[in-house]
Amino acid sequence: MLLKGKVAVITGGAGLNGLGFATAKMMAAHGATVAILDLAQANPQAAADRLGPGHLGLVADVTDKASCEAAAAKVKAAKGRIDVLVNNAGITQPVKFLDITDADYDRILDVSLRGTLHASQAVLPTMVEQGSGAIVCISSVSAQRGGGILGGPHYSAAKAGVLGLARAMAREFGPNGVRVNCVTPGLIATDINKGKIPEDKRQSILDGIPLGRIGEPDDVAGVVLFLASDLSKYLTGVTVDVNGGMLIH
Ligand code: NAD
Repeated sequence: MLLKGKVAVITGGAGLNGLGFATAKMMAAHGATVAILDLAQANPQAAADRLGPGHLGLVADVTDKASCEAAAAKVKAAKGRIDVLVNNAGITQPVKFLDITDADYDRILDVSLRGTLHASQAVLPTMVEQGSGAIVCISSVSAQRGGGILGGPHYSAAKAGVLGLARAMAREFGPNGVRVNCVTPGLIATDINKGKIPEDKRQSILDGIPLGRIGEPDDVAGVVLFLASDLSKYLTGVTVDVNGGMLIH
């Protein structure tokens, strides 16, 4: 029970095949009360119901600051505290550099990067007041290698921005007892890439992964749980690669 009595907020956690929901399940199994935040169409309440009684499902759009603040206020009112935030909401788009429109750029950066800002701003006052908290931001191998497998350059930029934002938060809020760390997943089988890996490319992708397989959501969830728990209590500002060795540096 690594998170017994803790309250964890996970953005973009409603997709049942996604990293956020896998993390929600693992955190709930480790004693946390989980609040899943997601867009209305993703049905966060239904996802929370699958975790069992006492968990929350809240509609929140991370691109909208007021929406994040309202969700954080609901969690605080219902559960009295917020110990963990997982900045997981993200979208991608496979497009070449010269084809990125301003609208594409805004859309992709608004969810991953501005969303990380908004959700973190919404929970940090509570964490500072408590004198404790752990924020885990989901970046991507794409930020480190200038492109993952499927995301465009604006996705790489958004995820690289998340690394910088998280490190700056770690520096600013360490004195308040709040730790901020990042996870950089490689290729993980979720809805974000389902059906998008061309069969003729599959083997060459696998050849580039020393552990010889595409990742599973639980591979990421375990690391997020570690970073959210006291097992990592002297870690802040770090980035943990979860990529099967796809990028070793
Ligand atoms: P996913 O599509 O299952 O999850 C993304 C979730 O974000 C969805 O539930 C979606 O509804 C939600 N979302 C989208 N826009 C939102 C908004 N404005 N406000 C709130 N929620 C919003 O995909 P996933 O693979 O589980 O992705 C989770 C995170 O992991 C993303 O940030 C993604 O970029 C990152 N990531 C995934 C991989 C991979 O290979 N799957 C690799 C590296 C990083």
